[in-house]
Amino acid sequence: MNTTNVSRRLENKVALVTGGSQGQGAAHVRRLADEGATVIAADILDEKGHALAKELANEGLPVSFLHLDVSDPANWDSVVQMIKETHGGLDILVNNAGILHEVAIEDETLEGWQRTLNVNLTGPLLGMQAALPLLRNSQGASIINTASIFGPVGALNNGAYCASKAGLIGLTKTAALEFAPLGIRVNSLCPGGVVSPMTEADPDGGVVPETPFRRRAHATEIASVVAFLASSDASFVTGADIVVDGGFTAR
Ligand code: NAD
Repeated sequence: MNTTNVSRRLENKVALVTGGSQGQGAAHVRRLADEGATVIAADILDEKGHALAKELANEGLPVSFLHLDVSDPANWDSVVQMIKETHGGLDILVNNAGILHEVAIEDETLEGWQRTLNVNLTGPLLGMQAALPLLRNSQGASIINTASIFGPVGALNNGAYCASKAGLIGLTKTAALEFAPLGIRVNSLCPGGVVSPMTEADPDGGVVPETPFRRRAHATEIASVVAFLASSDASFVTGADIVVDGGFTAR
């Protein structure tokens, strides 16, 4: 993304993006920083995260990296504490980290089910809880939870994944109600197929044949929606589930 082509809607904002080392998260990190935010990328992929932060910092963008396993409450507490000490507050939380887990319900294991729910659903819950003390002190805070079209619709061999994403949409709507008096907006995002390491093994398969645009989104096409939701352009948008799927769910 060329910094001259985007507006500077997020100046003086501090943003945390989970799963920020690669894929969509890395695109969100870049886009939010391009729009003026100070961005912390957080992930379990330390090497990639540090490399991304270094690359963007070399371009003059205020990006840093912190290790975070979103399923670990203690890890969340220390990351939020570090952000408070370093940046003084937090305005934008993007709960983007997620894992795919493909198995038929008949063959699902308790371990696989719980791991998927822990990262995809409990992770955003822990993030919202940990970040709330900082977000409530922000003017115009925004939380964006990355769900999936495999939340509103089912998908073969994706029982745990679909349950985690459908759960995240419900959690988001409840958070929007509970946090509205605090001035914090909370929205979920349902990407369709996106080009990322998660889908690279099957670039033209998966949802592509059933997507009216017959392709996956570029991560930047999701990042632009994240930036909108993070900004005051979306000041009356809360509790919404924004579908960005090339028409997949319109069929
Ligand atoms: P990706 O696999 O490239 O990125 C996911 C990131 O999350 C990785 O950097 C990974 O290290 C990180 N992560 C995984 N477990 C973590 C944990 N416990 N703590 C912290 N970070 C962790 O995939 P992506 O496409 O960039 O996915 C981003 C989000 O979008 C996910 O929530 C995914 O479920 C969702 N999504 C993806 C697609 C798609 O087609 N790629 C479609 C809809 C929704």
